[in-house]
Amino acid sequence: TDLGQLAVAVLAQVRDVVVEHEEELGKLDAIAGDGDHGIGMRRGVDAAAAAGEAVSGSSAARVLTAAGEAWSERAGGTSGALWGSAVIAAGLSLGNRETYTSEDAAEAVKAFVRAITELGKAEPGDKTMVDALLPFRDAFLTELDGGAPADRALAVAAAAAESAAAKTADLRPLKGRARPLAEKSLGHPDPGAVSFGLITSRISQFID
Ligand code: ADP
Ligand code: MG
Ligand code: MG
Repeated sequence: TDLGQLAVAVLAQVRDVVVEHEEELGKLDAIAGDGDHGIGMRRGVDAAAAAGEAVSGSSAARVLTAAGEAWSERAGGTSGALWGSAVIAAGLSLGNRETYTSEDAAEAVKAFVRAITELGKAEPGDKTMVDALLPFRDAFLTELDGGAPADRALAVAAAAAESAAAKTADLRPLKGRARPLAEKSLGHPDPGAVSFGLITSRISQFID
């Protein structure tokens, strides 16, 4: 479907932006984590983009389910499991629609975020990607409620994600591998929040 094709094209953008920032994300994760966020995201998006491409021509649900499964399987690590399940959840919410409305986009974003909070159980302020996801979702839904078209809502939401990701520098990690080295992490943003901001900004530039 058209929406399935769009999903394939978006996955290629996600792969490109992660490849461009792989080294930077690894260095950020090495400050208080295990340094594998760049390589893990790289493996995940390479596999996801290829798996989506392999079923291009089918529905958004099929493309994103295949992509999410491949992402979780190949990335390893916490962020891979979270991204994989979120991509699958967003895909299932879109189903076999040919095109999407603002309401469909809102449901997909809500499903994406819910998958990550249900699986990871991080709370706001724990210094994880959730600290970028929630401001992203809230800005997106607020813009749509105010009558903005989905592409405009996405631009505002992506900017909110990037600024929230930068602000995680002030937080001490309370979840994930960075927790034992919490003091080292102070002054540096959370890697998973940063990659989420980069990815949503790239998707927004592409959809615009
Ligand atoms: P790992 O921590 O297994 O090495 P990555 O380095 O790829 O995996 O990802 C680390 C990122 O995962 C963190 O920066 C954080 O954003 C995110 N993360 C870790 N635990 C959770 C959680 N419980 N909920 C949400 N995000 C989490
Ligand atoms: Mg890591
Ligand atoms: Mg790891």
